[in-house]
Amino acid sequence: MLDTDRLRADIPAYDTAGPPPVFLDSAGSSLPPRIVVDTAVAHLRREAEIGGYRAASERLDDLAAVKTAIATLINADASAIALSDSASRSWSDFFYAVPLRPGDRILVSGSDYASNVIAALQRARAAGATVEAIPSDDTGQIDLVALDSMLDDSVKIVSLLHAPTNGGLVNPVAEATRIAHRVGALVLLDACQSAGQIGIDVAELGVDAMSATGRKWLRGPRGTGFLYVRPDVCRELEPSRLDLHSAAWTGPQDYRVAPDASRFEFWECDVAARLGLGAAVNYLLDLGPENVYADVAAKARHLRENLPSIRGITLRDLGTEHSGIVSFTVDGVDPGQVRETLRAADITVTVSYRSSTLLDMSARRLESVVRASPHCFVTLEELDRFLEAVDRLAG
Ligand SMILES: *Cc1c(COP(=O)(O)O)cnc(C)c1O
Repeated sequence: MLDTDRLRADIPAYDTAGPPPVFLDSAGSSLPPRIVVDTAVAHLRREAEIGGYRAASERLDDLAAVKTAIATLINADASAIALSDSASRSWSDFFYAVPLRPGDRILVSGSDYASNVIAALQRARAAGATVEAIPSDDTGQIDLVALDSMLDDSVKIVSLLHAPTNGGLVNPVAEATRIAHRVGALVLLDACQSAGQIGIDVAELGVDAMSATGRKWLRGPRGTGFLYVRPDVCRELEPSRLDLHSAAWTGPQDYRVAPDASRFEFWECDVAARLGLGAAVNYLLDLGPENVYADVAAKARHLRENLPSIRGITLRDLGTEHSGIVSFTVDGVDPGQVRETLRAADITVTVSYRSSTLLDMSARRLESVVRASPHCFVTLEELDRFLEAVDRLAG
């Protein structure tokens, strides 16, 4: 286990003298370490002193190191990373670059995220393609047999969810990817809820592309995200939009697309936030990602073991392998009311609504669930404070 006191000494949110808030929303927007805040704020100040261009030119090495750090975390090459302002941006940057023709099929996961499916539906409408959901098996994870039976060479892209937003499920991504590749479909992985809390090795998973956000389990600033694209796939895809960074203007009628994943980036960005993201990933690398992942799993397990003994509580997590997201409902108490009651006790949880994961929630006839997502810096005492508060409101 990591030293929780040391972790918390690094977090500005715990500088307070009084009882610390109980923070269980790292699946929404986590608490950053001090180095992340200081890095971003210092750069904003520097921009104000000497202008944004000179300020950025002083940090060129650190900016390049942001991609190197991310690449190290997911076992890729830095040239395979494109930085962006969100996971949805990164996901759609790749998705909209994949050519689609009438009759093509797009497969989405049963627990897929609203933004992904909305984009798929939009493109399908425009191209005369279709969107089909991969069924889930009895445990709730992707049904690999069903996936296999759906595949033929009309399937152009398969959207896989590593860990959904509305519960503790972890999907068998490597197996699903191997199956999808048999017909030559591209696999785009949404790793928004896994990056920073579950080990990701893109070489081992074999996916063609992967998107993630900065502010959740990676504990970076808001407005940051990244895309990984497998180099051989990247060379074949032209992004749907280009600028003078993703491409070079080589003649009155000519341009050349950037050779690496930077073809999926625009030039302008929030440099302070980007440096903050680099600081967040380096902080994680310094802690030892495996230590963090084990700690998150232990905290979530503590909740999963103890919540069911409270009368009226139903755990809603699917799957056989679990992430740090713990989802549940309370008999007779609306999830929104649970969130508000807990907030009054300075305990932060969120509610995940049907509209975010429509296919899965509709299949389970759920309107919403309470989502508690503890990171490694949350103490066992705080988890018990949360459990007691849930016990009180359920009783
Ligand atoms: C939060 C989330 C996203 C979207 O991330 P943004 O950075 O807000 O675009 C995508 N997929 C899943 C599973 C998420 O939980």
